[in-house]
Amino acid sequence: MSWRATVLTLFPGMFPGPLGTSLAGRGMERGLWSLEARDIRAVATDRHRTVDDTPFGGGAGMVLRPDVVDAAVAAAMPEGDARPLVFLTPRGAPLRQELVRELSAGPGVVALCGRYEGVDQRVVEARGMIEVSIGDYVLSGGELAAMVLLDACVRLIPGVMGAAESAEEESFSAGLLEYPHYTRPAEWRGRRVPEVLLSGHHAEVARWRREQSEAVTRERRPDLLSEQRRAAPLHPAASPA
Ligand code: SAM
Repeated sequence: MSWRATVLTLFPGMFPGPLGTSLAGRGMERGLWSLEARDIRAVATDRHRTVDDTPFGGGAGMVLRPDVVDAAVAAAMPEGDARPLVFLTPRGAPLRQELVRELSAGPGVVALCGRYEGVDQRVVEARGMIEVSIGDYVLSGGELAAMVLLDACVRLIPGVMGAAESAEEESFSAGLLEYPHYTRPAEWRGRRVPEVLLSGHHAEVARWRREQSEAVTRERRPDLLSEQRRAAPLHPAASPA
């Protein structure tokens, strides 16, 4: 069975969006993965289809109700659905390639997109959601974050990337940023491509690239070298109700 993504959102019309083009779009057309965007509002039961309420303790904004989000999850994930449930939130663990690789190797993912102030924490815990952030900034909703997560996962599904694109040497694959790339012309506005790349000497090229990778990682992301970075756990224990 192909890799399955389900997105729970108040704005299903935003999907597939950019995921319908290029690599991801072609992969979807070829049946390598599928995407379903489900409207959270569809499970709201009152006359006004209310999905949110004011925060306990006061403060600005609205919070998505736990009962509504729970019903949306239940409707999207029938008994036995083994896909991890990811809540996109700035409070989550930063998204890293390790988690992307792990998710991509599994059956798929269910992604919950918050809006307003966020989601009632009780349903996040009760459903054992993996809380993931795509960076230290605040978006107005989880949809763009879900697209980032899905794009990163989908390109690693076998067959989505052609032989021309390879995930083997790219940034983060070996815990390093990637070396710089150059193409024709060999000289452009007085700037020459590093001579070693024109030498045809494969071992020298490989050594130069490795050195460049290490140097740029040391300079821009020393944290990648010093820390043994860990992905967010895929299956956090759901806390009892
Ligand atoms: N009040 C929240 C806070 O300060 O952490 C921010 C809520 S934000 C306006 C609304 C929704 O956008 C969040 O519930 C989340 O789903 C999504 N979102 C915003 N920034 C994000 C990020 N950096 N990573 C993942 N999701 C994000």
